Formats: sequence, structure tokens, C-alpha cells
Amino acid sequence: MSDQRPITIIGGGLAGLTLGIGLRRRGVPVTLCEAGAYPRHRVCGEFISGRGQATLARLGLQERLLAAGARPATTAMFFSESRTSNVKRLPEPALCISRFQLDGLLAFEFRALGGDLIENHRHKQTGAQEGHVRATGRRSQPVDRGWRLFGLKIHAHHIALEADLEMHLTRNGYVGLSRLSEDLVNVCGLFRSRTTQPDLATEWGSWLGGQPGSRLRDRLAKASFVEASFCSVAGIALRPQKALKQDEWCVGDAITMIPPVTGNGMSMAFESAELALEPLHAYSQGRMSWQNAQQQAARRCDEAFARRLTGSSFLQTAVFSPAWRWLLISLVGRWPLVWRLLFKDTR
Ligand SMILES: Cc1cc2nc3c(=O)[nH]c(=O)nc-3n(C[C@H](O)[C@H](O)[C@H](O)COP(=O)(O)OP(=O)(O)OC[C@H]3O[C@@H](n4cnc5c(N)ncnc54)[C@H](O)[C@@H]3O)c2cc1C
Repeated sequence: MSDQRPITIIGGGLAGLTLGIGLRRRGVPVTLCEAGAYPRHRVCGEFISGRGQATLARLGLQERLLAAGARPATTAMFFSESRTSNVKRLPEPALCISRFQLDGLLAFEFRALGGDLIENHRHKQTGAQEGHVRATGRRSQPVDRGWRLFGLKIHAHHIALEADLEMHLTRNGYVGLSRLSEDLVNVCGLFRSRTTQPDLATEWGSWLGGQPGSRLRDRLAKASFVEASFCSVAGIALRPQKALKQDEWCVGDAITMIPPVTGNGMSMAFESAELALEPLHAYSQGRMSWQNAQQQAARRCDEAFARRLTGSSFLQTAVFSPAWRWLLISLVGRWPLVWRLLFKDTR
């Protein structure tokens, strides 16, 4: 029987599960409530880029992911309506794995470490509570500055790519094609619309499929889509938020969401979980008050994420503007330094 104070984590996505695993490795009793069940598909480009990979390695999880078939990505290519970049080498490799596998694998690991995982349980917490950490993902916001942002994801076979990640910037958003295995590609997009889109489950092809004549449309011409992997999410809010401003202890997207174009959201989920570990452990052992521990973790997150949130806000605005899209791809194609700076400043 542990004499450490127990922790409850609300939300079993990447941030919640990573935090649970880290706490269990320190012997902290943890209960984790997840509204859904594993395994399940999630709207995600499934492209892990940034410092979160080091977190996974420190928690002994990277090896497991690689053993489960995670695939390193080393190249990227960018397309707009009128411009195409050359194949760019990623300054640091990314890791690609389906969320169906990843979330399931982390859930298995948490349980194997003695964590108490309650599936199909939507926790009804209404405010800050000592010993409770919120890892419930993005906060929904139906409309932002007149736009409704939504995301779509589906897996597909028979798509030939020129790089491990192809990013296609379209008029209403962007679609990433990332290689998950020799013959499986993640097709995932973020879009914006002035009106609600009630028929995404049937109309996804018109959003993800690109304009007639586009390179995206060409790429998907022979694709065979895995319908069971389709998912969608609406009400996405991308305005940066600060952890110190939240009255609850939050990790992952529950603090703030970074624009998906960076491929850094999962990394932030892993990192924010790791930054919470020491303060939570100290609280659990009675060495720190809940309030001090929460503030320490929040301060660390805000310091770690401020620069990349600013850089990615700029990038997100740029990819929605035709003139900026054109300029971005030209600059990235021609100037290796611009590409490296953009990469560094968004993760
Ligand atoms: C279109 C799109 C593409 C993306 N592409 C990428 C990419 O390529 N690379 C990348 O790194 N990131 C990407 N992201 C971002 C990435 O998916 C998120 O940053 C990441 O999933 C955040 O993890 P999380 O654990 O904070 O939240 P989530 O993974 O959303 O997990 C939250 C969990 O909490 C549960 N939950 C919610 N409320 C409750 C409750 N009351 N009680 C119990 N459980 C609850 C939910 O069921 C869910 O399982 C993308 C996002 C979008 C929208």
C-alpha cells in the first residue's frame, strides 16, 4: 500500500496517459478516467515532431513505439495551388504512428504499471479540485473571428508520396499526407468555413480530396480509403492560452492547442505531462502544496511553449492567405535557412 497521496487524471489521451505512466513509474497511485474506450481512431496527422520524442525516450516509451511499427519520417514537401517546394530534409526526424495504435499502447502500458484506468467514464468535474489534473484535450469553441475550424482524418492505401510528409495548402485549409507504413498513408486536414458543415461524414471527400487539377487530387486518384478510420472534429480553437491563467491543473491541449500545421501538438502533450511530473510527485509525497506544485508546472509549460505558440500563430495565419502561402513555399524552397528557422521556431 503506497503512502503517497493519490492523483486523478481526467482524460486518457496522450497527455493524460503519459502523465499517468510517469507517475506510476514514481510509485504514485493514479486513477485515470477516459470518456471513450481503446483502441480508437483520432483526428490527427499522426506525425510526432519536436521535443516530445525525447520525453518518450526518457519514459522508456520510444522503443515500444518503434517495436510497434512507428516509422521515422525524414523528408517533407510543400504544395500550394501554384507552387511546389523541393523535397526538404527535416532538421530533426519525426515519428509516425497511428493514434489507434499509440493511444492503445499507452493505455496498455499505464495498466501494466498498476494504473487504474476507467474507460467509458465521462468525469463531471466542474472546477479546480486538489489532486485532480485535467487532460481532457482541446476546449471547444464553435466560432473564432467568424470562422469555424474543423479537422478530418482517414487512412488510405495506394498513395504514392514523394516525401514522408506532404503538406498541401488548399484554399480553405491544409491537408497533410504522412506515411505510416509501406502502404498506409494518413490523410488529415484542417479547414475553415463561415458556415456549419453538418455533413462531414458524407462530404469529407470534397474537403480532403483537393481541387480538380491539384497535386493533392492527383495523389489521391488511386487511393483506397479505410472507411472505418474516418473521424472528424469541429469547434477547434487555436488562440494561444497560458497555463498560469487556468484555475485547474491542465496538461496537453487542455492548456492550449498549437496549430496542427506544425505537427507539434502531440509533442506538447508529452512535454506538458513530463513538466508536471516532478511537481505532482512532490505534492503526492507531501513535499509541496497543491497550489505551489500547480503553479510551478504551469510556469514551466508557459516558458517552454511561448516561443513556438507565437511562431505557429504566424504560420497558421500565413497558410490561410493566398499571398503568404505563395511566399512561404517560395522561401522555404529556396532558402534552407528560412526552412530551418521556421522548423525551429514552431517546436
Ligand atoms: C486536424 C488535426 C491534425 C493534427 N495533426 C497532428 C500531427 O500531425 N501531429 C501532432 O503532434 N499533433 C497533431 N494534432 C494535435 C494532436 O492531436 C493533439 O495535440 C493531441 O491529441 C493532444 O493530446 P491531449 O491528450 O491533450 O488531448 P486528446 O488526445 O484530445 O485526449 C483528450 C482525452 O480526454 C477525453 N475526455 C474529454 N473529456 C473528458 C471527460 N470529461 N472525462 C473523461 N475523459 C474525457 C477524450 O475522450 C480524449 O480521449 C492535430 C490536431 C488536429 C485537430
